[in-house]
Amino acid sequence: MGKRKKSSRKPGPARVKVPLDTAFTCLFCHHDKSVTVRIDRKEGVAQLICRVCDQRYQSKVNHLTEPIDIYSEWIDAADEAQRVGESSTVRRPAASSSRPVPARAPSVDDSD
Ligand SMILES: [Zn+2]
Repeated sequence: MGKRKKSSRKPGPARVKVPLDTAFTCLFCHHDKSVTVRIDRKEGVAQLICRVCDQRYQSKVNHLTEPIDIYSEWIDAADEAQRVGESSTVRRPAASSSRPVPARAPSVDDSD
């Protein structure tokens, strides 16, 4: 079993467990890391606030909820609100850095 592949992976968007505060990009004012999500597990609620444009969103959480969940919920809610409201198109946050990733070449140097 102990076959180790030496692969130098770039430190991509690693899924790190973050404690309570996390900053995201605001989909309204597009400021980077201006949106913070605060999860209060004792109260079972999460508060999302953009400190730049003062957008707010609140949602319920459970023990599995992560800040990113609240963030995506917020995006959905904002999306929905836009849809049922005016027909003005909201600019979704650009899909995070979709830079072309070089396809992993099959390593042929499998020494025997
Ligand atoms: Zn904002």
